[in-house]
Amino acid sequence: MTVIDRYNRQELIKGWNQELLSNARIAVIGSGYLANYTLTALAALGIGNLEIYDTAKVGEDKEFLLFSAELGESKVKSLEKILSKINPVSKIKGVGISFETPSLALMLGKPEIVIDVTNSSKSKSTILNYASSKGINVISASSDDDMAEVFINNLKENAFLKEYNGVKQGRVVSGIIGGMIAEEVRKMIMPLDKNDIPAKTAAYSLSAQRRFSKEKEGKFQKSDLKDKKILIVGAGALGNFAALGAALEGIGNIDILDFDEVDSTNLNRQILFYESVGKKKARALAEKILEIVPSANVKGIVGKLSEDSNYFKKNKPDAILDCVDSFAVRAIINYFAVRNNIPLISGGTNPRSGQVIVYEPGLSACLDCKIEVEKALAEQRKAASCRFAPDPSVIMTNQITGNMMVGEALKILDKNRGEPVRRILKYDSVAPVRGGLVGPGESCSCTKPEIKEWLGQIDQKLENKQIDLKTQP
Ligand SMILES: [Zn+2]
Repeated sequence: MTVIDRYNRQELIKGWNQELLSNARIAVIGSGYLANYTLTALAALGIGNLEIYDTAKVGEDKEFLLFSAELGESKVKSLEKILSKINPVSKIKGVGISFETPSLALMLGKPEIVIDVTNSSKSKSTILNYASSKGINVISASSDDDMAEVFINNLKENAFLKEYNGVKQGRVVSGIIGGMIAEEVRKMIMPLDKNDIPAKTAAYSLSAQRRFSKEKEGKFQKSDLKDKKILIVGAGALGNFAALGAALEGIGNIDILDFDEVDSTNLNRQILFYESVGKKKARALAEKILEIVPSANVKGIVGKLSEDSNYFKKNKPDAILDCVDSFAVRAIINYFAVRNNIPLISGGTNPRSGQVIVYEPGLSACLDCKIEVEKALAEQRKAASCRFAPDPSVIMTNQITGNMMVGEALKILDKNRGEPVRRILKYDSVAPVRGGLVGPGESCSCTKPEIKEWLGQIDQKLENKQIDLKTQP
């Protein structure tokens, strides 16, 4: 596989200059969940020189990148090994020294950016002071189970994130903030235009109604999810992160449905396929998730969710996670969700933003009421054409959105974890405030007839010009 292939999808983005990323040198301090997710995004993106600093050893409770590491092994050395597989083109180096070692300054030298993702205010104070004395860009972030925060080139007291000292780092929130850190890093090294400016701070809180918030609104009593079952439709970039996040959060039964094969142009964002080019995505993803979380019951199903799918005749999952990239297929997923009364969490991305829509029967509006997916299906049925032009795609929005989807799925599966969003949950790298809720929050009372009748209704509406294709999403 060539380097050109690997970055093909992101090089389609206007203003992209991979060389700037390939020449960059970035140091990451830490080896917990936030480091795992930040490093995954930076390595896949193609940061050319990535250094990881920490002294921790692999313990019983392994972070996801350390699934094949031996107990007692140096975590940064194990991270170096696995990240070098995820992107063999990047130079990745694990350095087993801590912020307390006087030689750290010597080793660090002057990278473009230093990122402290520990839950240690002592580490942060050393790193932030060092970076500011040398004029180096510095990012400070921490997470707990429900919330993560990041400060960029901000040396105020609150950037030391004292309240996270010694606390275990969360999974989903680390996935979201790790992806956001990589996007802000990309802006620092390779801005796409003059308005592409890094944020000063950002946060994500599973307990806050607005999600992109520094507020904690209550503490959750969490129930076990090992008997819950979800269906993930689509094993691309969103599917990779949704399946990984779901398994890490303890969702016991995961079916993954996809018909496609892994291609080398997938590797800049579909992080679990580094050994799977040429294999079926559904099976490759299920196998890798099982290696990472052996206790999960994960099944890869090779196939499409089409009009004649009989999956729902035999299965009733507790939720469906829609990770596809076609509005026409979304309409079919929405049909099965409404018809069978199954909650649906739908994710979509482009290179600069991502959104999550939750349909909970009777409580929130379905996908067609929110984004009119049936128009796209009508057009596809009329044109019956199969257009193929690759869309630009990057890891960051997929990592953020896939994890936001899991965050909402947890609330659907366990009512003790608060309400899922009713409005559209949006991440936007271009907006000054990086994310929030958009659109109305009303519910709908849609029902669906037998599938043939439903498809007939769609074709009829198109005939009668009740569907205006010009405003298709
Ligand atoms: Zn509806």
